[in-house]
Amino acid sequence: MAYTGVRKMTFEELFIYIISKGKKDNTYKFALGKFLLDYSLSLRDIKDTKIYYGEISEAFLKYYWFQECKYKIKQDFKQNSQPIVITIIQNFCGAEYIPDSYDKYFKKNKFKEDLTKLIEKKCLNDVIPRFQPEEYNNFYFHNHEKVNKKYKVPSNDDKFILLQGEAISFLKKNYELLHKALILEWAKFLEKTNFTPKLISKIENLGETKRNSLTRFKKILLEIDNKKCFYCNCNLDNDDIHVDHFIPWSYVFDDELWNLVLSCSKCNLKKSDYLASENSLVKIQTRNEKLNLVQTNKDISEYYHSCKKAGFLMGAF
Ligand SMILES: [Zn+2]
Repeated sequence: MAYTGVRKMTFEELFIYIISKGKKDNTYKFALGKFLLDYSLSLRDIKDTKIYYGEISEAFLKYYWFQECKYKIKQDFKQNSQPIVITIIQNFCGAEYIPDSYDKYFKKNKFKEDLTKLIEKKCLNDVIPRFQPEEYNNFYFHNHEKVNKKYKVPSNDDKFILLQGEAISFLKKNYELLHKALILEWAKFLEKTNFTPKLISKIENLGETKRNSLTRFKKILLEIDNKKCFYCNCNLDNDDIHVDHFIPWSYVFDDELWNLVLSCSKCNLKKSDYLASENSLVKIQTRNEKLNLVQTNKDISEYYHSCKKAGFLMGAF
């Protein structure tokens, strides 16, 4: 066989090449990579499969909604600008904190479809060709050309990609490994502009996360602390004792005794993922000292202030 000079990359080489090289001003390629992985995993039949833009932009909405509205992860890698997807989400959802779950939020706010359409229009044309470095073996087929180093999609574009059966089989088979590599590169990217606990775990969970039961903490707190609501100081009835994350769970992303207090259901509900006042911060610091939780307390004040800086809003306490 004649030597042709260029060897086609294998899918594995190609995937790693795409997620670790190239444009560095947004994280769209990671989002698309995650979508392709999750989509392939969900398929039963391995054959060439048409995927319409709408499905991709819906996944984008979810990934970026969690980063922007729930975890407050900053995306401004370029000076003075943020990716369009974030501007779109902010314009629709507002900058105020959104305490509901993703599904509940969009059940209440009926603009999900408009949002998805806008993301489709403004974000996908830029990212879809980036998964197809032209001379290589490609995961999918899609109509586009390169004009002056910019990708151009024809106006009569069918708005779908054709994911190759072979690619689906590859993505399914290597899902665990590829997903871990992707999350690592994604988190490395976000680390540059974020100081947030458990960043990797947050990126690993861009969807509703199952929360652990706090019953064992309730037992411990009842043994060592007052049987009073931390916030309103009312005496707690046995059937109305809640465990509340002082610094929002969405920020700390873990259950730690130094961050947990007992509260009544009313305060627990009202507090939600808001930040408590500085006075309450002093109160919990004193409590932690009293209960000797300071050894394991990774400086609650540092967490509190970085959480505030990240954009979590102050509540009523
Ligand atoms: Zn209360």
